[in-house]
Amino acid sequence: MAPEAVRNKKVVLKHYVEAGRGPRESDVEVVATETVVLAIPNGSPPALLVKNLYLSCDPYMRSRMAKHDPPGFVPDFTPGSVITGFGVSRVVDSTHPDFMVGDLIWGITGWEEYSLIVSDLGSFFKIRYTDLPLSYYTGLLGMAGITAYAGFYQVAQPKKGERVFVSAALGAVGQLVGQFAKLMDCYVVGSAGSDEKVDLLKNKFGFDEAFNYKQETDLNTALKRCLPEGIDIYFENVGGPMLDAVLLNMRVHGRIAVCGMISQLNLEKPDPVHNLFCLIMNQVKMEGFAVSNFYHLYREFEDEVVQLIREGKITYVEDVAEGLENAPAALVGLFSGRNVGKQLVVVARE
Ligand code: NAP
Repeated sequence: MAPEAVRNKKVVLKHYVEAGRGPRESDVEVVATETVVLAIPNGSPPALLVKNLYLSCDPYMRSRMAKHDPPGFVPDFTPGSVITGFGVSRVVDSTHPDFMVGDLIWGITGWEEYSLIVSDLGSFFKIRYTDLPLSYYTGLLGMAGITAYAGFYQVAQPKKGERVFVSAALGAVGQLVGQFAKLMDCYVVGSAGSDEKVDLLKNKFGFDEAFNYKQETDLNTALKRCLPEGIDIYFENVGGPMLDAVLLNMRVHGRIAVCGMISQLNLEKPDPVHNLFCLIMNQVKMEGFAVSNFYHLYREFEDEVVQLIREGKITYVEDVAEGLENAPAALVGLFSGRNVGKQLVVVARE
């Protein structure tokens, strides 16, 4: 029987996004293109043909929408081509020995209904806990989750009972960092961009305190109010004025795990940071990290967090956009904080 042929809807980058502004829905378009045959072409190198189920919206995709010369840390998208990102997929055809037809996997796929994957096959993990919601593998049990795990335990090196501050605390990474910190009996404070998010942090995620940074006239005052004895660990997701205020509040031998600086991604010129002298006065260690250097911990992380989910010790909030048509708005919304929890897109429910 001849393999099935289908139309393949996809999200394509129309043009590079210039510095100094956030991404817009009009920077990408959703197109239904050529018919694809659901079989790997003869003569192809080892490949996977996958049906995409869930896609992850991630802040780093903003930098891939720009042109970098010389090339940056992750490759730029190409105008006219489908954009790529982390997602959950079902294997429809495979010529790779590690994957079989029917496997559920997560890794870097196309923002389209079906993807032929010939490179980056090393980015894929087989999903072992298929009884949990598969969407968890776009965040909680996927890239964002291992980022929180590695950044908190490996980079920040927490001790029981320390004072922890997390920015973008209701985001995919932040909500998990806060919960890990609570599991170590830390005093945990988060910042977020709406009262609804602050309420969730305190009443659903068990943060000891939280504040809406958009309503504060002075971030230093807000931090002193919530953490009068200072901060042992700052899990940095936003950068800019928040980092500057945090530096004034770090305790001796504090650690700053620099995960991301979303507030800086759309600026033409980064905000100046004035208070770096505090690193010396209080012997604070500030360390950036990339999750890609911690994937060797993935299975250990997955087992631990699945256990915590089953015991009801970890909870999670997702913001779900239905359909590829709504993917551009979902991605753009990250940069104004429209998402409440992990932003993902459902391409197909099985
Ligand atoms: P997310 O928090 O789920 O979504 C982004 C959130 O950032 C928004 O909801 C918004 O929440 C906040 N935000 C947007 N613009 C902001 C601004 N100008 N100032 C302050 N906050 C702003 O995203 P995520 O996936 O968890 O990622 C969090 C951070 O981790 C990002 O910086 C990301 O780049 C970084 N990251 C790094 C690695 C790594 O390997 N180092 C891996 C994954 C993610 P509010 O409503 O609170 O403003």
